[in-house]
Amino acid sequence: AKCSQNGTFSEGELQPFGPIELNPSSAVLNYGQGIFEGLKAYRKDTGSILLFRPEENALRIMMGAERMCMPSPTVEQFVNAVKLTVLANKRWVPPTGKGSLYIRPLLMGSGVVLGLAPAPEYTFLIFVSPVGNYFKEGLAPINLIVENDFHRATPGGTGGIKTIGNYASVLKAQSIAKANGYSDVLYLDSVHKKYLEEVSSCNVFVLKDKVISTPAIKGTILPGITRKSIIDVARSQGFQVEERLVSVDELLDADEVFCTGTAVVVSPVGSITYLGKRVQYGNGGVGVVSQQLYSALTSLQMGLSNDEMGWTVELD
Ligand code: PMP
Repeated sequence: AKCSQNGTFSEGELQPFGPIELNPSSAVLNYGQGIFEGLKAYRKDTGSILLFRPEENALRIMMGAERMCMPSPTVEQFVNAVKLTVLANKRWVPPTGKGSLYIRPLLMGSGVVLGLAPAPEYTFLIFVSPVGNYFKEGLAPINLIVENDFHRATPGGTGGIKTIGNYASVLKAQSIAKANGYSDVLYLDSVHKKYLEEVSSCNVFVLKDKVISTPAIKGTILPGITRKSIIDVARSQGFQVEERLVSVDELLDADEVFCTGTAVVVSPVGSITYLGKRVQYGNGGVGVVSQQLYSALTSLQMGLSNDEMGWTVELD
């Protein structure tokens, strides 16, 4: 059954960054009717700017909008709005190798509701910010804790889309993990408490005997665009990649573990702690395969290697 709302978005305009007005009884503030996206613009060494697969973010926000009973911009509107915003903020795109411009599209029920219902009006906006590495470790291994008490998503819930409430629900587990010295939390499925799902803001991969495995997309994890891209890059480099149920036992027994996401790119995992037991991968340094995939993806995103897949969109 579909819940899409029909509606068209007006042309839109560029505005200086600053506070926006929202009605106190807007659906987004009261009922969390909001979704967002995250993508990056990199500067090529020639000076021009590259977006990475922006139409994938457009398709994902459309899918999320349907789940949240919201209308969404078309792929063309989304990609054009991203391009316009980035071009207007060109000077904030760092030089090659010095970071990127993070782009945050946000779609929300800005119309007024009192009883629980989808909003009668919606706002789509985009803001940007220059960023460096997501984890303070940079391309150094991160240390994750496997969460056994809190869950990020349940079957039938909204774990498969980028809705704002998913991030509110992980704040507590993440804060506890950080206070205990971990970089982030790795969630397990809420039914068996046995299969890997994902980290608060990235997907997870395990390598064992040259085979790379990652949890299959089944509605409770976000279909990451980096995840999808890394699967293709790894296959093109001759790796066997499996999308399936991956158990926590396999995680503990892996040769290498890494996470993928727009913000984290490819982050090697140095250690995992599960029920008080800590497992270190290799010598705790950056794994060979993680490093290889990181280099392949980042050189594509920065325009340093030949984009055979046609994934980058160049802006002058
Ligand atoms: N999982 C979650 C929960 C996320 O927030 C993100 C970041 N968007 C990802 C995975 C990775 O997705 P992507 O590669 O598209 O950034």
